[in-house]
Amino acid sequence: MKTKNDLKSVMHNEDQFQIVSSARLCFFYWTSAFLLGGCQTSNSPPIQFDQMLPSIKERIVKIQVRCTFFSGKGTRLLEVYVLDTIADSVRNCFKDLLKERFPVYTVDCYSNRNKIHENVPSIHALGVALDVNALMNPYFSIDRVKILPKRSIDRSEDRNLYLIKRLKTCCLPKQEFFAVLNLIAQPRGYNDWFLNRNYIRPGMITPRIAAIFKRHGFDVWGGMWREPMDYMHFQPNNKLAKALVRLPPGKAAVLWQKHLIKCNES
Ligand SMILES: [Zn+2]
Repeated sequence: MKTKNDLKSVMHNEDQFQIVSSARLCFFYWTSAFLLGGCQTSNSPPIQFDQMLPSIKERIVKIQVRCTFFSGKGTRLLEVYVLDTIADSVRNCFKDLLKERFPVYTVDCYSNRNKIHENVPSIHALGVALDVNALMNPYFSIDRVKILPKRSIDRSEDRNLYLIKRLKTCCLPKQEFFAVLNLIAQPRGYNDWFLNRNYIRPGMITPRIAAIFKRHGFDVWGGMWREPMDYMHFQPNNKLAKALVRLPPGKAAVLWQKHLIKCNES
């Protein structure tokens, strides 16, 4: 088990990353193909967030956002389920990320689930929080010595099979699959290297990228929290998020527009 000091040293030490050879990754991929099967899609449970709230499910819309590849030139459309009120802002945010050529392999928003470690609904259950490039931008809790996605705990060769399994759920084109895998895999002995935020690698969310999300209303970034830290996560504040789903769509839209003005003033 890692101690608080172990994690802190990972965060602050310069690591000496070495790219895992493509040949080795190919080996992992093909040997795991038999075990893991094809692309998997997640089946969300029925929506039962809060009896006090109007039906959130009716206000969740599917949108597409165009994202830059990790593997070089080219773009890809990713689907994301969001609350209707914020749909345009999410589209505009990803247009700006595209202009910046910030690569994105996955984005998640709506998810009917509880907060990690807590028996209360996550803000994702409201459809207003975004998780971007989870494998490059982990959630971690120093006090609880918890890192998610859990592949970050030990990236020994065996654990790379877990990475491959996760990536296969994203249904990436083959070239993109290897580009992302090559970026996130690491040799034995270099665990948790994405916790070192001083060494900026493609897909990592930095304060400059967080400022783009803020312009579009997502002014709370989990990368600025003290405990836990959640580098993949963006949202408006909790009070506003709850108001957006409690109000009728018309009033929620007015409230969101006011919030956007505030976010672009400061
Ligand atoms: Zn999140």
